[in-house]
Amino acid sequence: MSRVVVIGAGVGGLAAAARLAALGHAVTVVEQAAEVGGKLGTIQHDGFTFDTGPSLLTMPHVLEELFDATGAPLSESLPLERLETACRYRFADGTLLDLPGDPALIPDALDAALGAGTGDQWAALMARAEQVWEITHEPFLESPITPGDMVRLSRSIGDVATVAPWRTLRGLASHYLHDPRLRALLDRYATYTGSDPRRAPAALVTVPWVEQAYGSWYVPGGLGRLGTALLERACDLGAEVVLDAEVVEVLTSGGRASGVRLADGTVLAADVVVANADAASVYGRLLTGPVADREARRIRRTTPSLSGLALLLAVDDPPEVAHHQVFFPEDYDAEFDAVFGRRGPARPVERPTVYVSAPRDPAVAPPGSQTWFVLVNAPRHDPAHGTDWDEPGLVEHQADLVLDLLAERGLDVRSRVRHRTVVSPAELERRTLTPGGSIYGTSSNGARAAFQCPANRSPLPGLYLVGGSSHPGGGLPLVVMSARIVAGLIGPA
Ligand SMILES: Cc1cc2nc3c(=O)[nH]c(=O)nc-3n(C[C@H](O)[C@H](O)[C@H](O)COP(=O)(O)OP(=O)(O)OC[C@H]3O[C@@H](n4cnc5c(N)ncnc54)[C@H](O)[C@@H]3O)c2cc1C
Repeated sequence: MSRVVVIGAGVGGLAAAARLAALGHAVTVVEQAAEVGGKLGTIQHDGFTFDTGPSLLTMPHVLEELFDATGAPLSESLPLERLETACRYRFADGTLLDLPGDPALIPDALDAALGAGTGDQWAALMARAEQVWEITHEPFLESPITPGDMVRLSRSIGDVATVAPWRTLRGLASHYLHDPRLRALLDRYATYTGSDPRRAPAALVTVPWVEQAYGSWYVPGGLGRLGTALLERACDLGAEVVLDAEVVEVLTSGGRASGVRLADGTVLAADVVVANADAASVYGRLLTGPVADREARRIRRTTPSLSGLALLLAVDDPPEVAHHQVFFPEDYDAEFDAVFGRRGPARPVERPTVYVSAPRDPAVAPPGSQTWFVLVNAPRHDPAHGTDWDEPGLVEHQADLVLDLLAERGLDVRSRVRHRTVVSPAELERRTLTPGGSIYGTSSNGARAAFQCPANRSPLPGLYLVGGSSHPGGGLPLVVMSARIVAGLIGPA
């Protein structure tokens, strides 16, 4: 049996802990916060339960596989609900589109909302996306990436032509989609990896395909329940989870990871260290030496993912709204320019896309009211070079602006908000120790981005990375996949 220390009890850390405990390792998870979940956070207030992070679950089979591999099925602890309408979109020209959860119904819904022929355009793009998925998901998402994979892929000319690694998502859109509203729809999926569609690879076309093929899901009671279910699974298998315990150093001995030091000076010896903390912190702060320097330099060369400004609203007497709703802006490029600091330093978006998640779930709000999660893209917290989200008044000003914008776009709840909590990029950084509050680690901006994502097996023997800032990237399903990869690399005790 090996002693494994996992740094961080986010989804990635807990999923890895459960898998490694199931493989017979003695696992201790150390989490700096007072609760588990990391970015999958929950806040309770006056009878309301707010998810602070994810509101949409895709690829539920990835979670189901995790639970099956480690004990009783997921359905026993966490029943999931598939949404009939994946999302209601409102475009800048006022057009409304209810995108059905059933992919077979999507082309007709597009034709009806956006005009004849748009359904065929989207269907052709999704057919291409399915091919890209078939080629890439096993070697790129479900396996540890090595530079050799690039070579392997480039050996098959046919495959390369389909994946088109030289092409951007925006470039692919211009080939298939002739309606600007369809293009805005596709652009939005780049933000699911915290990226800019003008620089992100065309392979991200798989994101909408995955969402449509595997469905959009909700966890009744709030997505935060997933963190509790993972905690229970890991503990049932014998993992120990220690809260309020910040790791300040990854220790090495004989050229390999040998444990961690906590902020209070406690040393936990380990045969294997699995870091769920952000990769930039692992190599920039927790580990020292040439390996850390090299990896930290490599990460600095990538573009960090964007962050978000989240408004958690307790809404009285709520209007009828779809579970998920997106209000597109007049100028999407201005939004990407602002959050990624093009044509000036990174800055809050003046007229951002607004996303509203308003679950009709009596478990998360008292009768006659609803919890709303409102999210806009935001630049990272970067006082030195971009936006200082701790600047007095900025967060509340931006939050007011978002509610005004919603009102302008036809959804005015300003007088019905009984309570609001705003989570800024700076607050996200403090809560989860994620540098800048980046939601998804490194972005996919740039053709080689997938290969620059920190590897799950660190160059330092005995150290592994799990979670959204390492391969295969952020978002719940990919984070759960990364735990499977890491457990596979470490193997049974
Ligand atoms: C606003 C928002 C909306 C999102 N929406 C969605 C969505 O709808 N769907 C979706 O799939 N994904 C969504 N995501 C992304 C998703 O939440 C993340 O990809 C995922 O939760 C990341 O999990 P993780 O385990 O990789 O990292 P984290 O959740 O960041 O966990 C890392 C953990 O490590 C701990 N830690 C860090 N440093 C230390 C240290 N030195 N010592 C001890 N502990 C440490 C942190 O406290 C944290 O608990 C969203 C995220 C945010 C913030």
